[in-house]
Amino acid sequence: MILVLLGPPGAGKGTQANLLETDRSLVKLSTGDMLRAAVAAGTELGRKAGDIMERGALVQDDIVIGLIAERLDRGGEGEGFILDGFPRTIAQAEALDRLLAERGETLNAVVEMQVDDDALVKRIIGRFTCANCGEGYHDDFKTPKVPGVCDRCGSKEFVRRRDDNEEVVRSRLEAYHAQTKPLINYYAKQGKLKSVDGMAEIGEVRRAIGRALDGSA
Ligand code: AMP
Repeated sequence: MILVLLGPPGAGKGTQANLLETDRSLVKLSTGDMLRAAVAAGTELGRKAGDIMERGALVQDDIVIGLIAERLDRGGEGEGFILDGFPRTIAQAEALDRLLAERGETLNAVVEMQVDDDALVKRIIGRFTCANCGEGYHDDFKTPKVPGVCDRCGSKEFVRRRDDNEEVVRSRLEAYHAQTKPLINYYAKQGKLKSVDGMAEIGEVRRAIGRALDGSA
């Protein structure tokens, strides 16, 4: 199964992608995570992408399409992939259709997570992740059960993203509205779009996605 999670920054795509890995034995592919790894490793690609990411703009299509193509070629250990943060433009969506067709695959569903813009800034600014396993947390909505210790792996190191500050978040939201939102119509026309209320609590969104994928919503 190949799924796309679509929604603005802060909609909860990463959180739900992590849960889908467990629920459906899928492997998460996040272009944001891949780009951040390239920046941290100081590769040429990381140097090209780093400034753009710090401004909250979108990295060039050919760069992210290349990352996804390479990753699809390596295959997965699970039952398929969840794409988190890709595609983000019509050109990327068209490239994805092509890449999958070349590999004899097809996109099964696109889950759109609907969230109010006003809530997004608050959601993004409070978030942090475990530096070791990537489990996501939030200052207000989801703190570790034992303060300072990751629930999943026990690590005591946490990180916050450099682009999770108010000014950059506003640019990321603008990029979403201008460049990514047209994908909703693109996938609706293909009959693949399923929309869920991303404002609900994490467990409820997880169940709504499950129902949408099983065709019972
Ligand atoms: P994310 O972790 O998905 O919020 O992505 C963080 C940043 O990486 C974005 O603000 C963009 O600068 C860049 N990025 C991630 N995925 C893409 C993509 N599919 N197309 C263009 N830029 C991307």
